[in-house]
Amino acid sequence: MKDRKLLSIVIPAFNEADVLPEFQRRLTAVTTALPLECEIVYVNDGSTDGTPSVLRALRQRDDRIAIIELSRNFGKDLAMTAGIDHARGDAVVVIDADLQDPPELIPELVRGWQEGYDVVYAQRTERNGESLAKKLTARLFYRVIGKLAHFHIPRDTGDFRLLSRRAVEALGRLREQHRFMKGLFAWIGYPQKAVPYRRAPRHSGRSKWNYWKLWNFALEGITSFSTAPLKAATYIGALTAAFAFMYGAYIIVSTLRFGNAVAGYPSLMTVILFLGGIQLAALGVIGEYLARLFDEAKGRPLYLVSEFQPSRPAMRPRLA
Ligand code: UDP
Ligand code: MG
Repeated sequence: MKDRKLLSIVIPAFNEADVLPEFQRRLTAVTTALPLECEIVYVNDGSTDGTPSVLRALRQRDDRIAIIELSRNFGKDLAMTAGIDHARGDAVVVIDADLQDPPELIPELVRGWQEGYDVVYAQRTERNGESLAKKLTARLFYRVIGKLAHFHIPRDTGDFRLLSRRAVEALGRLREQHRFMKGLFAWIGYPQKAVPYRRAPRHSGRSKWNYWKLWNFALEGITSFSTAPLKAATYIGALTAAFAFMYGAYIIVSTLRFGNAVAGYPSLMTVILFLGGIQLAALGVIGEYLARLFDEAKGRPLYLVSEFQPSRPAMRPRLA
């Protein structure tokens, strides 16, 4: 028993009381069949429902469970980061609590790890129950980010994946506040492998996503991994200035040749509004980056833990 490797399974949970018992049941069925020792790390991300008591009850019956209580809701990315930081396994799997990521896929992720891959990510083969608009915007997003980032960010992946110990250590060194996780997972490099799966609709409760959040998510991804919008602002500014210069030259020449009948109010307005608009847009782009710099400059901890209850497997020393 003692010479088996340890697999940590990290589950961020925010108001998931209804689904957690069923999740734990399906996860247990999977983990008992694995030829690995398992540790199950639940992160309660400041839930306001019965999630904490459900987790405590689960831990009473299964001492492989660890519970991390965050001091408030920090959002999934940070909850996940807290879980990965506390995980003691030789490999770490991150999975959603809402059963959209099937726990039954974990053995296949583990197989990828045993083949020598450091990051084994689950990739959706189809997007069931999503609107056409959602699919199209997702597609556009992957195309844009694919062009802007200098490394490959695989499309149609969530956070459901396995990380080897060295991938976990690498991720642990990326302490930025603005965590576009898909980008961070890809940034660390190392051999990575995709495992296709069908993503299920939510088991119960509601997704916390909407279009405004998705837009901010896209903004996060682009500004975290590319300075292209800043450069674009420079070129758009230079281009408009060039046009303005040519138009000015034209006006001077035509006034000298044909005199000036003081018309031109519409063209004047158009030019002023156009230039004003471009300047504001460029300032907005700078503002987005400045805001992020401001957040990073504060150097705050990413999250605060109010209580940590370790799992039993985590108590033993790690194997070489
Ligand atoms: N989650 C979290 N903190 C949050 C929001 C979500 O820990 O502030 C967890 C949630 O409990 C679930 C996972 O992150 O386990 C995915 O959340 P959700 O289902 O809302 O996202 P979606 O599946 O729509 O991407
Ligand atoms: Mg979900």
